[in-house]
Amino acid sequence: MPITAKMVAQFHYTLKEADGRELESSAAGHPMTYLHGTQSLLPGLEQALEGRDVGDKFSATLTPALAFGDLLPDSERRVPISQLRGAKTWEAGMQAILQTPEGQQQVTVLKVGHTMATVDLNHPMAGKTLIFDIEVVGCREASVEELMHGHAHGPGGHHH
Ligand code: ZN
Repeated sequence: MPITAKMVAQFHYTLKEADGRELESSAAGHPMTYLHGTQSLLPGLEQALEGRDVGDKFSATLTPALAFGDLLPDSERRVPISQLRGAKTWEAGMQAILQTPEGQQQVTVLKVGHTMATVDLNHPMAGKTLIFDIEVVGCREASVEELMHGHAHGPGGHHH
């Protein structure tokens, strides 16, 4: 059964940069499990999986626009340290979740003062072309409950 909307698909992936450097792989753990058509994956990745079937192996090259976006110029901000989530103490180079009234986003800490920190708003993978080597290992119809929740359940999926 090919991957279409309202199907729960599972795939193993290896994520590489354009120069071949490996960033991440699911090989040692559960395959990625998701409900197709819910924009829960990177836009380019969901597009690439559409219509694929169990056993399919392929590579998808995602331009920055289809992955984590282009690098924003002027992306440094001074923010209160109290808005940073993910660690108790901060130093330059760490990744943080910046929590603001408008929502949250992943940032990189550049400098830490007493109450304020300087962060880079660009996602660490912004501006990068990414290559996903994919192997589809499962595809089934979503349950009524999964459709209601808008996500996949079970190993590799959402746990309640
Ligand atoms: Zn659920």
